[in-house]
Amino acid sequence: MDIISLGINKGKVAQFNKKNIHTIEDLVEFLPRKYFDFRFPKPIRSVEDGEYCSVVGTIIDATIKPNYIRVKVKDESNYTISVVWFNQNYVEKLIQVGKEFIFCGKIEIDEKYRSIQMLNPMYFSQEVDKYKKIIPLYSKIQGMSDDYLHRSIDTALTLVDKNEYLHAELLDRYSMIDRRRTIRGIHQPETMEDVEAAKERLLFDDLFKFAGLLSMKNMDNQSMTDIVFSQAETIAPFLRTLPFTLTEDQLSTVRSIFKDAREGKRVNALVQGDVGSGKTIVAFLLMLIAAENGYQSVLMAPTNVLASQHYEELRKIAESLGYNAAFLTGATKVREKKQIIKGLASGEIHFAIGTHALLSSDIEFNNLGLTIVDEEHRFGVVQRELLNEKTNGKVHNITMSATPIPRSLAITVYGDGVSVYNILQMPNGRKPILTELHKNDSVAYQKMYDEIRKGRQCYVVCPLIDESDADVMQGVLSVNEVYTKMLGYFSSKNVSISVITGNMKKDEIQDKLDDFSSGKTDILVSTTIIEVGVNVPNSTVIMIQNAERFGLAQLHQLRGRVGRGQYQSYCLLVSQMEENEKLNAMVETTNGFKIAEVDLKLRGAGDFIGTKQSGDNKYIMLMLSNPKLFSEIRNEIKVILQNEELRMHYAGFFQSLQDSLKENAEQT
Ligand code: ADP
Ligand code: MG
Repeated sequence: MDIISLGINKGKVAQFNKKNIHTIEDLVEFLPRKYFDFRFPKPIRSVEDGEYCSVVGTIIDATIKPNYIRVKVKDESNYTISVVWFNQNYVEKLIQVGKEFIFCGKIEIDEKYRSIQMLNPMYFSQEVDKYKKIIPLYSKIQGMSDDYLHRSIDTALTLVDKNEYLHAELLDRYSMIDRRRTIRGIHQPETMEDVEAAKERLLFDDLFKFAGLLSMKNMDNQSMTDIVFSQAETIAPFLRTLPFTLTEDQLSTVRSIFKDAREGKRVNALVQGDVGSGKTIVAFLLMLIAAENGYQSVLMAPTNVLASQHYEELRKIAESLGYNAAFLTGATKVREKKQIIKGLASGEIHFAIGTHALLSSDIEFNNLGLTIVDEEHRFGVVQRELLNEKTNGKVHNITMSATPIPRSLAITVYGDGVSVYNILQMPNGRKPILTELHKNDSVAYQKMYDEIRKGRQCYVVCPLIDESDADVMQGVLSVNEVYTKMLGYFSSKNVSISVITGNMKKDEIQDKLDDFSSGKTDILVSTTIIEVGVNVPNSTVIMIQNAERFGLAQLHQLRGRVGRGQYQSYCLLVSQMEENEKLNAMVETTNGFKIAEVDLKLRGAGDFIGTKQSGDNKYIMLMLSNPKLFSEIRNEIKVILQNEELRMHYAGFFQSLQDSLKENAEQT
């Protein structure tokens, strides 16, 4: 029911709309920020500084000046309190010396002057009993008085549909109050227990709705497919050509995914493993299996650098086994793109590697069997859904991520049927990276020099490109400043330093990266451009300037640029910050799963998984903080969907979810 049904004017409607309140249902769902318990007036003798309470007493004196009104109130305890209003001249008409009033608001006690006062009381009235109650405090609606809002809500409560939608047996089993009592408990509670019971019920409703939404999303995901990978003969001989042996986690991940695909199950897998744990080879092996069974596969990465690195590696492997690989990004020339499109349509190209350009609508596959998304925590939910759509939800899908998430969260992001594989072991011989926190860079420079003399190389990462950005950020070093400083420090030491920034031309960046990869330069100074995908096993130091300015996941990702070979590696964080939870976590652990936990705690789930803007955020947070209840509720939904009678009972509920999903889809 539109908010206008409250009988309010256009101006007020606009004020409500600005707060995202469009219907009376929205208004009823506009929850108080907190509650003030004014039920039991306090004797003035025992009020405390800073507390919100009510006092009842007689006005014994009044001082009225322009924009300033002050009354003295005395109560039965014979103590007095001063009630003061600034800039509220209308009050003059309402107060009356000699009469009893109730005053509700915040107490301020000044010990020095032994004065007790209440400034701009929230409520005051001669109708003492009317205000002896619990009063909800809503967040401010611009241009609207609290009183107006309260009255509007009261009216909305009489109009809104209060019918219970949960079945009685469920309410009973979870000892929950019904919808009518919930709504009253939120806006007109008689006791604080009413508020608690209502909050519990609202939490249940939210989780119930979220679980319902998830169950509907998952209905589109088929669990079986006719894309079957029946053989994997090429794998064993290929593995023998690798310079290393796979870790147990890598092997078992490939095995389990292959097993599912062989049995005709549609693979929906999340492979999560720390930076450097060796996820890429797992992806390649599965792509080889797809090719051996006559299917094409796609490997999509979030950046050009990363995609091109995957391409270079996979192309060699592909060629040695007689397969064709193609590389496609937004920068691919039209003519080349046409060739690739042709090759993909004819099936001549077995592996397509690239960025989200691979999702472009003019690309069709001859026989696509597998898509792999290398997320490195960069892709959003949207791209994933696009990919799913493009493949009709039939093709096997694997997502690789260096930002591990708890299973419960994985389910909400990747769907109910997702299998989560964790690559916990680091490849053999890898030494954990040592992370140090330094206040100034001279120690770090010395460390770098030690390593360079041993033949190793170093990265230096800065948050800013040039000084001009620095005007707004005092004390933050730019790439160019650091570069200049290092040139000075290393000038007599036969060390070669190069610098790259995002402002440079692509070719120039590539040249400098190539020089670094081939060992021509010792130190590479850059912005976060090297965050993903750069793989130079000979680098053993990464120094991060103004480390406090980076996100935790990003720091961890950057750290993963070193420690890729057999040498002991170091991550040197430079920061003026004394105590920083993020930096401490970096020093304490290299375990990506622990890092992710801290990150989740510091940032909140929405930001964490890239759905900050979406409404899911609130639900995901609720779900994460109530894992047990949520899993029970998911079961309830399953039971409902399997039971004819219950399904009928909830038809309206599911219909409204369907509508809201549609609405969401139209908005994006
Ligand atoms: P990430 O999981 O971060 O994507 P990569 O797949 O890029 O890690 O692997 C990092 C490096 O480790 C690569 O150079 C890769 O060749 C190497 N590598 C992968 N698996 C192993 C292994 N089992 N033993 C030794 N080195 C490995
Ligand atoms: Mg990787």
